[in-house]
Amino acid sequence: MQPPRFSARSELASLQRYNSGLTLDDVAQRAGGRRIAKLGSNENPHGPGAAVREAMADAISRPFVYPDPSARALAAEIAGATGLAGERVVFGDGSEDLLNVLARAVLRPGDEVVTLFPSFPLHEDYAVMMGARVTRIELTQERRIDMEALLAAVARPVRLTLIANPMNPAGVWLAPDDLNALLAAQHPDSLLCLDEAYVEYAAGADYVSCLDRLGAHDKPLLVLRTFSKAHGLAALRIGYGVSNSDDVIGAMNLVRTPFNVNGVAQAAALAAMQNTDEMVTAVAETVRERKRMATALTGMGLEVLPSKGNFLFVNCARPSVEVADQLIDLGVIVKPWKQAGYENFLRVSVGLAWENDQFLDALVCILKGRP
Ligand SMILES: *Cc1c(COP(=O)(O)O)cnc(C)c1O
Repeated sequence: MQPPRFSARSELASLQRYNSGLTLDDVAQRAGGRRIAKLGSNENPHGPGAAVREAMADAISRPFVYPDPSARALAAEIAGATGLAGERVVFGDGSEDLLNVLARAVLRPGDEVVTLFPSFPLHEDYAVMMGARVTRIELTQERRIDMEALLAAVARPVRLTLIANPMNPAGVWLAPDDLNALLAAQHPDSLLCLDEAYVEYAAGADYVSCLDRLGAHDKPLLVLRTFSKAHGLAALRIGYGVSNSDDVIGAMNLVRTPFNVNGVAQAAALAAMQNTDEMVTAVAETVRERKRMATALTGMGLEVLPSKGNFLFVNCARPSVEVADQLIDLGVIVKPWKQAGYENFLRVSVGLAWENDQFLDALVCILKGRP
């Protein structure tokens, strides 16, 4: 018997499954017993600190209780840390979930969504899912954010502008003046969303979080954060959005599932916000390693984009799918970029020192043609 046919929504026809990156199990066979450097998913391999591990263990001992549907304790903690109202926080089962919720809450067929390119694919995919049109602002020849094009785009009444700052995969970011110019140029009828998944790695005089601008901004703004990256909790799936608009938060809360954030994730995130020492230490080490890797890669004659994330975007001057495939045999997972114009780029996460060394050594071998 043939499996029965069924037509899903036509908007889905142009979508492809998200490229989630390889798992350790996926590559174990090919790596021939080597320790595997998992540098494809921008995780924090240091993991969470002791207090967070304790909070998780405590929470998992009560699996039969539904979680708090509003994550009130965590919302209060975020409100305290940011000086913003706890009622203007919305939680997601990872910030990917929030991107999906945002799209379903605000996008209508034909609406225009502005994104940066090369992009975090989900910024585009969920817009397409809703039948919206995506306008990409491409990096300039010098691989900088094209501020002129971006400011012109956001001055129009587009429905939504969705920007990762720092950008994933490119790693580049909006300088404080550029962020101010963006906020000033925003059309008052349009929603601006800054996805700050890597904010902890971006600190410095040349970066400012949009959260610091939220209280004083008079146009609809949404800032997304996650516990998956610097906080080392990717497996638990928890992220949050903060807005200056009750309408935006209200709509997202209507659209999301009521218990979308599990109880272990809520407990872990709360402990993570209250105990940041280990996270800060791990971030500092990652930032040092990021610099060391960038120097080594540049020394190999490769183009490396400046990055404020826990990853680097590297032009390996040949198809990165092939390079990434050869890297697997040497026990290294990276993410080859497949979007048009960036097929020679790979994104490599900054891992532990031994992982980064394993990547650098393997890449030297591959580029010299002796894997
Ligand atoms: C990793 C990442 C996310 C997803 O984070 P989760 O909270 O794990 O869903 C969101 N946005 C960007 C730009 C990312 O790189």
